[in-house]
Amino acid sequence: MTEIVCVANQKGGVGKTTTAINLAASLADKGKKVLLIDLDPQANATMGVGIEKSDQEQTVYQVLLGLVDLNAVVKSTVIPNFKVVPSNRNLAAAELELADFERREYRLADAIKGLKENFDFIFIDCPPALSLLTINALSAANSVLIPMQCEYFALEGLTDLIDSIKRIQNQLNPNLKICGLLRVMYDRRASLSQQVSGQLEKHFYSVLFKTLIPRNIRLAEAPSFGQPAIIFDPQAQGTLAYLELATEFLKAK
Ligand code: ATP
Ligand code: MG
Repeated sequence: MTEIVCVANQKGGVGKTTTAINLAASLADKGKKVLLIDLDPQANATMGVGIEKSDQEQTVYQVLLGLVDLNAVVKSTVIPNFKVVPSNRNLAAAELELADFERREYRLADAIKGLKENFDFIFIDCPPALSLLTINALSAANSVLIPMQCEYFALEGLTDLIDSIKRIQNQLNPNLKICGLLRVMYDRRASLSQQVSGQLEKHFYSVLFKTLIPRNIRLAEAPSFGQPAIIFDPQAQGTLAYLELATEFLKAK
């Protein structure tokens, strides 16, 4: 069965897109068939795998509005078994346009049901908000993966996010689970990183990935070349960390 994983955190710039691209690419490298759906109008995941957002006439935006079939917008990447559904800035209008639609929270879930190609994993990269787009992702997913930076305010945001997940479980998607909390941009030498990480271990041990993703400049450089880190720099610390995460992720299945 396909597992659908939503990568979410309403905080901006916490490593959602970097995690979605590089965990997806690492699983593809391990032979899994993976689809990444870019559900963010910023289209960072689209650009990060080498697809020019301004060239795309049809994206996930038309899919949500019911104007085009999801199968028609699946694009190939440089990694053969890693495919992508692109986004662009038009998607920002979807929030308002979908407001009066029937089943507006399930537009993405319904579209995914019609996928013809079989994937082992579908990742959904969310925008930094608990908006209708993120609600569509959480309604479509089996699980949610939460990247976090080990900073003081991260823990406050986490409580809000967990409350929202509980609300979605109660009202829209009773099957939604927490796939895991992932510590990213981790700095082993910073005492705040260690303290917050310790708090996470204390309170969330059972859902915490043991793999730590370090702060690594190669992970930040790779998207400007339109490449997942595993292609851009296969030996970089960050690349190896996402491969280790993929192993841990598969073991938990
Ligand atoms: P947004 O909320 O805007 O969608 P995001 O949560 O998707 O942001 P990213 O775009 O993945 O976050 O990361 C934010 C910035 O931090 C980017 O410039 C990215 O390249 C950089 N970055 C992410 N992870 C790492 C890392 N482990 N080491 C160094 N830089 C990183
Ligand atoms: Mg992002």
